[in-house]
Amino acid sequence: MENKNEKQQEQNEKQQEQNEKQQELLIENLAFCSVSYVAKQMYQVATEHGFHEGETIGEVSNSRMSEFIANLHGEVSELWEAHRDGKLFAQCNKPVALTCAEEELADIIIRAMDTAHSLGINIGKAIATKTSYNKTRPYKHGKIC
Ligand SMILES: [Mg+2]
Repeated sequence: MENKNEKQQEQNEKQQEQNEKQQELLIENLAFCSVSYVAKQMYQVATEHGFHEGETIGEVSNSRMSEFIANLHGEVSELWEAHRDGKLFAQCNKPVALTCAEEELADIIIRAMDTAHSLGINIGKAIATKTSYNKTRPYKHGKIC
């Protein structure tokens, strides 16, 4: 009798563990779907401000792609300059309550999401796939630093 109860308890624990893993996966998938939703919002804001005039999602010319990359690089450079000036945690120069680090990191993400949506990329799915892959990589991805 006791043996039967122990087996039942073991089965219950395994089931609970499976349920928790499924729950985690569901939450992770929801988070990545939210990323794609946010990317669409970033694209829409840029569109409303004239940055995608005459463009079609998924159809990006080589010269337009060059602009996307240059603008993304520009935001990374602005973060670099804020760091060089020792202003990462200083108030940014916009009328919003953000430090320079917060503003420039937000700009980088906004530009990246806008670019992804312009290209027709499901960035949430891409991040999920890359994160899953990264989980399989060795410590520091095999690099020394
Ligand atoms: Mg900026």
